[in-house]
Amino acid sequence: MDKGLLKENLEQIDAYLKQEGISRRDAMKMMGLGGAAMMMGSGAATEAKASSSSAKGKILIVGGGLSGVATAALLARSLDNPDITILEPNPKSVSYQPGQTLVGSGVWSKEDTVYETADFMPDGVKWIQEKAVEFNPDNNTVKTSGGKEIKYDYMVVATGLVLDYGGIAGLEEVGDVYSLDAADAAKAKKILGKNGLCSIYFAEGAADTWTQMQEFVAAAKSGKKVKGLFPEPHTAFKCGGAQKKMVNLTNARLVEAGARDNAELSFVTNGKKLFGVPEYHDSITRQMKERGVSTTFSHKLKAIDVANKVASFEKHWEEKGEWDNVLEEFAMVKKTENIDMPYDFCHLIPPQKAPKEIADSPIGSDKGWVPVNKETLQHVKYPNVFALGDVAAIPLGKTGGSARKQYKVVAENLIATMEGKKELAAKYDGYTVCPLITDIGKVMLAEFKWDPKDNSKAIAAPSFPLDPAQERWIYWLLKVYLLKPMTQYGMLSGRA
Ligand SMILES: Cc1cc2nc3c(=O)[nH]c(=O)nc-3n(C[C@H](O)[C@H](O)[C@H](O)COP(=O)(O)OP(=O)(O)OC[C@H]3O[C@@H](n4cnc5c(N)ncnc54)[C@H](O)[C@@H]3O)c2cc1C
Repeated sequence: MDKGLLKENLEQIDAYLKQEGISRRDAMKMMGLGGAAMMMGSGAATEAKASSSSAKGKILIVGGGLSGVATAALLARSLDNPDITILEPNPKSVSYQPGQTLVGSGVWSKEDTVYETADFMPDGVKWIQEKAVEFNPDNNTVKTSGGKEIKYDYMVVATGLVLDYGGIAGLEEVGDVYSLDAADAAKAKKILGKNGLCSIYFAEGAADTWTQMQEFVAAAKSGKKVKGLFPEPHTAFKCGGAQKKMVNLTNARLVEAGARDNAELSFVTNGKKLFGVPEYHDSITRQMKERGVSTTFSHKLKAIDVANKVASFEKHWEEKGEWDNVLEEFAMVKKTENIDMPYDFCHLIPPQKAPKEIADSPIGSDKGWVPVNKETLQHVKYPNVFALGDVAAIPLGKTGGSARKQYKVVAENLIATMEGKKELAAKYDGYTVCPLITDIGKVMLAEFKWDPKDNSKAIAAPSFPLDPAQERWIYWLLKVYLLKPMTQYGMLSGRA
């Protein structure tokens, strides 16, 4: 990043904060931006450190993406005699996925997000560039794609998730895709990134999305009436705000080109709300209305006719059936109907699932995700196994923001386990954050966590004394200039 530009932006942030009566140091602290603040020489950082310990044991971390490398770095800094191995097949596993929305809308280029794993591998940590293919937690062993059998005392599972494009009829040829896998990207690009159909969920796909978006905007500018479609998947998915960001960024590019009146933009979700936190739902509803984006609920994406540019949905609802004399209420009958929606531009977020080798193993659950105590992140059956990040069966966010809180909990509790402690003191509270891009130059920073009274619900958890449901330019600066260095130099070194 250009240092002069960074300085200029920080000065602007300072001016804005001064107006609000907050110092930058306090703002960074409040937002948990210790790493970024430290990097900028403010000295305001509170460095993450699990308790320093002389505990010994062979630790295997499966998956060296954001969560795996951050956990390894913090453990390596906290243990006197660390013995840590990371199993990670991908040489670019630490690339910055949150930047893919910005690549897909032409704000960044792909090169701004792609990084070498080797440059971020913590000192003293052994990296085996292979995949775990079989888990035997009763023997504390894992088999690798290269035929090795690795014995461990403690294991951390951080494999992330798999994009299930093949789960949509018409996209079977794309099949399963890992966000940063080059071979998967080559396979996906045969169908995605052309003919109006695109997806920012893999790095190459993000670059192609920008090309497709430009073609869409150009068609609208030429006077053609065009339709843009933005469906959300029916499964849990990483970065729950991504489709809202994409519809807003497409809207911004159309407005910029003076072509907005020629485009219909439709956001379609399988859910019943735009966000689980009522304040954020209300704000997003207002933002979509202001931007002329239509919203459709309870529609499950089933199929895409790639050649004819038509997406097919199952609309679902319930109707009153027969009166039940025993329960003294009407039985509810599930109804469905097929709805076809033609498009000129469709930004796709695929259904998502746990990697097969996890789902099919004793450490996976029936739904695939690794079952852990959602506060301590310890496996429900194997006390020497922990899981975090996208693969963990934890309600709410599958985001880097959640992982930033979780890796400190895992490091602390793993060390306590190694020391033979029965009580695991560190607790994850469900915190996650979605910097929801609402326009080019505006972001609503939706921070939230579990409701302590009812963990199935979410409540707003702002770390900044400003109304969190407002779109702000300061958060755009945070998203575009600060979050990446904070992730790379703070989180991936286990410091923030
Ligand atoms: C388009 C997009 C936008 C996003 N925007 C945001 C955002 O704005 N804010 C935010 O906080 N988050 C965002 N995220 C989400 C964030 O990137 C993820 O939540 C985060 O990367 C999860 O970290 P992880 O370590 O669990 O998984 P990953 O970082 O994906 O790493 C998992 C690693 O495990 C490896 N692996 C898989 N299987 C195996 C195996 N069997 N053996 C060994 N290794 C294996 C993979 O190769 C991979 O490198 C976004 C993601 C996308 C795709």
